[in-house]
Amino acid sequence: MCGIVGYIGDKKAFPIIINGLKRLEYRGYDSAGIALVNEETLTYKCKGKVSDLENFVKGKNINGNIGMGHTRWATHGEPNDVNAHPQISQNGYFTIIHNGIIENYSRLKKKLIDRGYKFESDTDTEVLANLIEYIYLKGKVNAEIAVRLALTKVIGAYGLVITCKEEKDKIIAARKGSPLVIGVGKGEYFLASDATPIVEHTKSVIYLNDDDVAILKKDELILKTISNNRLTPKIQKIDLEIGKIDKNGFEHFMLKEIFEQPRAINDTFRGRVNVDFSTIHLGGLYNVIPKLADAKRIIIIGCGTSWHAGLVGEYLFEDLARIPVEVEYASEFRYRKPIINSDDIIIAISQSGETADTLAAIKLAKEAGATVLGICNVVGSSIPRYTDAGVYTHAGPEIGVASTKAFTAQVTVLTMMALVLAEKRNTLTEKDKLKLIKELTEIPGIIEKILKNSEDYKKIAELYKDASNFLYLGRGYLFPVALEGALKLKEISYIHAEGYPAAEMKHGPIALIDQNMPVVVIATKDKSYEKIVSNIQEVKARNGIVIAVVSEGDTVIKSMADHVLEIPDTYEALSPLTTVIPLQLLSYYIAVMRGCNVDQPRNLAKSVTVE
Ligand code: GLU
Repeated sequence: MCGIVGYIGDKKAFPIIINGLKRLEYRGYDSAGIALVNEETLTYKCKGKVSDLENFVKGKNINGNIGMGHTRWATHGEPNDVNAHPQISQNGYFTIIHNGIIENYSRLKKKLIDRGYKFESDTDTEVLANLIEYIYLKGKVNAEIAVRLALTKVIGAYGLVITCKEEKDKIIAARKGSPLVIGVGKGEYFLASDATPIVEHTKSVIYLNDDDVAILKKDELILKTISNNRLTPKIQKIDLEIGKIDKNGFEHFMLKEIFEQPRAINDTFRGRVNVDFSTIHLGGLYNVIPKLADAKRIIIIGCGTSWHAGLVGEYLFEDLARIPVEVEYASEFRYRKPIINSDDIIIAISQSGETADTLAAIKLAKEAGATVLGICNVVGSSIPRYTDAGVYTHAGPEIGVASTKAFTAQVTVLTMMALVLAEKRNTLTEKDKLKLIKELTEIPGIIEKILKNSEDYKKIAELYKDASNFLYLGRGYLFPVALEGALKLKEISYIHAEGYPAAEMKHGPIALIDQNMPVVVIATKDKSYEKIVSNIQEVKARNGIVIAVVSEGDTVIKSMADHVLEIPDTYEALSPLTTVIPLQLLSYYIAVMRGCNVDQPRNLAKSVTVE
């Protein structure tokens, strides 16, 4: 969470940092700030978005060739001007921006108060700024040593950018748990919490690892560990085009990303699926396929939408490859003494590859000797680096906070994995396998068709945008889709919504149904079709409003539902990829009509790097 940008070189730092912050604003947006190193370090910060910061600095001095900027996602202290970053140490020696949480901040703060420090903000970050300053002044050490020593006393997670007023030629950066990337230019360096603000300046990057400290001058980079061991920086080339991180004429990133799904799915299976030979090749798993095929059990871990993709994975692996699967919220898994065996396979799913709870769960599983695989979207992020093997989704940068294309790309990868395992384990006939592989390659075309009906979604959105509650129902493969549909609506429109397995409705949620309650039922023709038709009747018998996602040409449900959204039929195992599209569009249009900020919903942020 939170966006960090830094610059050191000969150019004007302000525009580079502001533009970078705009690209990162999806990571956190409750307040923003900037510091520019001059004779005096100039610091400007305020509550609100990056555009508020831009207005705030109008007419002020924005000179400087070294600087840092931050968009905050508050963890400690409300979003206000004082708590915004940069935070400055009491005597002004250090200016710092921080992504993450200093968990032992209250103990450190107390000690600093005992030594005469006073605090202005409620943040954990100010504690760190003062701790560094205290060590610097007391120990009479240089800035780098003060930073490294301070970090040995810190428990928690951080991505940090720091300047010192007595060493104006450098920026110090450090990472533990929260991502930081250095962009390497000619006589200049860039810093950011992900590569999106860097690509327009350079394609050469260095991903910092946990416990790394970088000391950047405009023409020198020193990389070391917190404990002062020199490291050789590993420069990588990134393959990220600037066009991919713009809205390309769409009103919101979320809408653009919904419409990008045919391309994203296609890119995710392209080069991996060969329909002519009925084969799937997942290069990143090559060495672990035999182990995976012999697994007694697979545990899938994730958070939010990735957890929903994991649930689809459970149906896929059990149905197609007959391997038992458990799906766990990473945060619950890691704290409840899970039983992990060395022959377990753990699959961690995360769009950003930085999700803090998922990363921690991976570490736990690795310690227990399990084989850990990753399914991530951001190349070079932490999860792919910590896992034994994995598969990248090729969805491209996802900026909208509510995940859309990352979900369908994750499900595409899980489908390919299940098919590879089905082949190895002989659990599918050649004919069925070929049918599924062929249809998987047709999914982008089917989604194109669904996307053409956006007018239908707008009409329904207009009718129900003022509802206070929604219920989403599905069975089998479509139960996780119901959960995902409900989550989308909650996230961006702030309407309370719940997803349920349709059969569970009778065990509670049916009590909620009345003439004001829209119930979205995903009822395409699959093996539980008859059962879900009965569920629709149960809703109608209680005057609920039924909005049903149905197979093209379905007349049965059409005669009983209030609205139907027809979509082309697919094999059941592939239906999550298509049925989720109407739900994404419905929630998008409802949120827009309610005047909500779709790309930056309140309280949320992309890439949850705090626990
Ligand atoms: N914990 C810090 C704060 O609340 C940093 C939050 C962030 O990552 O934006 O200020």
